[in-house]
Amino acid sequence: MNKYLKNVLNGVKEKNPYETEYLQAVEEVLTSIEPVVKNHPEYERIALLERMIEPERIITFRVPYVNDKGQTVVHKGYRVQFSSLIGPYKGGLRFHPSVNQSIIKFLGFEQIFKNALTGLPIGGAKGGSDFDPKGKSDDEIMRFCQSFMTELQRHIGADVDVPAGDIGVGEREIGYLFGQYKRIKDVYEGGVLTGKGLSYGGSLVRKEATGFGLIYFMKEMLGQNNISLEGKTVTISGAGNVAIYACQKALEYGANVVAMSDSKGCIYDKNGIDLNLIKQIKEVERGRIYEYLKVHPQAEYIECNGTDSPIWEIKTDIALPCATQNEVTLNSAKKLVENGVIAIGEGANMPCVKEATEYFLNNNILVAPAKAANAGGVAISAVEMSQNSMRYYLPFENVDKKLNEIMINIFNSCKLASNEYNLDNNYVAGANIAAFTKLANAMAAQGIV
Ligand code: NDP
Repeated sequence: MNKYLKNVLNGVKEKNPYETEYLQAVEEVLTSIEPVVKNHPEYERIALLERMIEPERIITFRVPYVNDKGQTVVHKGYRVQFSSLIGPYKGGLRFHPSVNQSIIKFLGFEQIFKNALTGLPIGGAKGGSDFDPKGKSDDEIMRFCQSFMTELQRHIGADVDVPAGDIGVGEREIGYLFGQYKRIKDVYEGGVLTGKGLSYGGSLVRKEATGFGLIYFMKEMLGQNNISLEGKTVTISGAGNVAIYACQKALEYGANVVAMSDSKGCIYDKNGIDLNLIKQIKEVERGRIYEYLKVHPQAEYIECNGTDSPIWEIKTDIALPCATQNEVTLNSAKKLVENGVIAIGEGANMPCVKEATEYFLNNNILVAPAKAANAGGVAISAVEMSQNSMRYYLPFENVDKKLNEIMINIFNSCKLASNEYNLDNNYVAGANIAAFTKLANAMAAQGIV
C-alpha cells in the first residue's frame, strides 16, 4: 500500500481502536482507492484523506422515555454528521440494540460514498439509538420517538440534515418523529425527514426504492455480463423493508426466490416464497418468520445457531444479503461458491466480512457492492426532498423510471471506474473509486475546512 495511505490507515486504527465496523469500512475504501491516490501526491499536503474519514460532527445524547409499566428507561441517541461536501447531511436512523458509535460511524462513512454515487446533491450522515422497537407497544414507540426528536430537532433541517429510516425505523417511526419535529418547531418543513407517509409529504416508490433499486442494479450488472435474472434461483436474507421489495421485483423479473430470513432463522420454500404471506407476517403482524409454516407446512424452517447464517447454506444462483452488516462470513462465502453462486447483491450495508468479499472476487463471482446497489433508497429520498420543495407529487411511474435510470447510471459509473483502472469487473473497487473521485474533487475545491 502507498505510504500516505498506510499512514492514514495506521492513524485511524490508533485513534479508534475499538471501533471495528468503522475501521473495516475505512480500510475497504482506502485499499481500493490506491490507484487514484497514487496519481495525486497533493492530497497528502492538504490532508484530504484524513479529513474525509473524520466526521464533521458527532452528536450523542440521552433519550429517556416512560414505558407502559411506568418505568423510566434511558437509551443513547446518536447522529453522526459525516460530510456536507456535496449537500446537506443525509442518511437514516437505526433503532436496534446493537447500535453504538462504531456502527453509526461506519454507516455514516459509507453513506457519503453512496450518496455521491447517486449523482444527487446529498451529503452523508447516520444516526440512531440502542432502543429495540421489537415487542414494544405503539404508545411506547411513540413516546420514545418523541423523546429522541426532542433532542435531535436542534441539529436537523431541510437544508441542514435530513434523516430517514433504517433497521427498526419505518413509516410508523418516521411519522412520530415528524409529528414531534413539527410541534416543537411550529413549522411545516416537509423536507426535514424522508420516508414519510404518503398522506403528509412522502414520495411514491420510497418504500420500495431500496429493494427495487437493488434488483435494477442486479439486472444491469447481470445483463452486461450476458446473464439473465429470469429463471434464476435467489435467496434473500432479512424480511424487512429492503428484503421484501427486492423479493417483489425479483419475482416480477421471473426469478425464483426460495428463501428469506429474520434474525432467528430462515424459511426455505422450494416452491417459491409466498411474498404476500411474508408481508402479512412482517409488515402487518410484526411477527416472526417461522409463522410462515402455519400456512405452508411443506416449507422448511432452519433456526440460526452460531455465527454462520443458515440461509447461505442453501444452493442458489444469486444471493442477496439484505439484513445487516457482516452477515456473510468467510465460511458462508465458501459454502455459496461451492454451491455454484453466480452473483452477490448487497442490499444491506457492509453485509460481507472483508474476507468473504475477497473470496467472492477471487472466485470470479460478480459482487454488487452495497454503496452502489442499495443506493436506490437514498436516491428516492432525495427525490422526495425535491417534491417537498416543489410542493408537488410525482406519479409512481415517473419516480420508478427515475429510480431505474439512477441505478443503471450507478452501475455504469462502477463499471467505468473498474475498467479505467483495469480491475476486471471488480465493482466493489469501482464504486469506491467513482465516489471517491467525485468527493475528492469537491474537497480539494472547497479549501481546508
Ligand atoms: P428492517 O428493520 O426493515 O429489516 C431488517 C431485517 O433484517 C429484519 O428481517 C431483521 O430481522 C433482520 N436483521 C436485523 N438485524 C439482524 C441481525 N443482527 N441478524 C440477522 N438478521 C437481522 O431494515 P431494512 O430492511 O430497512 O434494512 C436492512 C439493511 O438494509 C440494513 O443493513 C440497512 O442499513 C440497509 N439499508 C436500508 C435502506 C432502507 O431504505 N431501508 C437503505 C439502504 C440500506 P428481525 O426482525 O428478526 O430483527
